[in-house]
This record gives sequence, structure tokens and C-alpha cells, in this order.
Amino acid sequence: MCIFCQIIRKEIPAAPLYEDEETLIIPDLNPQAPLHWLIMPKAHVENLTQAAPEQVAACVRAMQKLVKEKNITDYRLIVNSGAEAGQTVPHLHFHLLSGRGLGWPPG
Ligand code: AMP
Ligand code: ZN
Repeated sequence: MCIFCQIIRKEIPAAPLYEDEETLIIPDLNPQAPLHWLIMPKAHVENLTQAAPEQVAACVRAMQKLVKEKNITDYRLIVNSGAEAGQTVPHLHFHLLSGRGLGWPPG
């Protein structure tokens, strides 16, 4: 079973920032910005290509709730899909980075 499924099943500890029936948001273990969240669907799906649009919508809805609650106005949302794009955990997740200037274009 993948590591994020284990976190979702509470077999591996995390400190959820937000949770509902369909989604979970946790802080990234190795943050790349002062604020670095991982937003994921609870149902395992490997990547953005395979995901149901409803899973993507649920993640965006959860993310919108939490950024509004925390008054975060400036952020970047990233999905690494595939190893060459930097995906290391084969369970769809959105990275939300905030709290510092973010360069463009990304490296
Ligand atoms: P990616 O490389 O896009 O697949 O992103 C995987 C992310 O998961 C990386 O940023 C890791 O730092 C993060 N990560 C791995 N294991 C954990 C964990 N147990 N709790 C929180 N974040 C994790
Ligand atoms: Zn999984």
C-alpha cells in the first residue's frame, strides 16, 4: 500500500490540517517553502492523468476552504505527474507552496 494511503488510514502519523470524507491536507515532511501543504484525495489514484475530475474538484474545494480560513492570498499549486516531472509518491497530490517569493518560470 502506498505511503499516502497509510497516512489516510492513520497507520503512519501525520498532523492533518484539514480532512473531509474525500480529501486530506497535511504539511509536507520536507517543506520547500515556509508553507508547504499536500492536498490529496482519500481514494488511491496514481496521478492526475488517471484521476476522476471529481477527485480533482474535491481537492480544489478543500484547498480553497483552507486558504480562505488561513487568509492565504498568494500561493502556487503544483502537481508532479510522472517520475521525470518529480513525482516520488504514486498517489495524486497537489503541492501548495506559499510564504516566500516563488520564481517564474519554475526550474
Ligand atoms: P512528489 O515528489 O511530488 O511525489 O511529492 C511527494 C512529497 O511527499 C514530497 O514533497 C515529500 O517531502 C512528501 N512526503 C513524503 N513522505 C511524507 C510523509 N510521511 N508526510 C508528509 N509528507 C511526505
Ligand atoms: Zn495511495
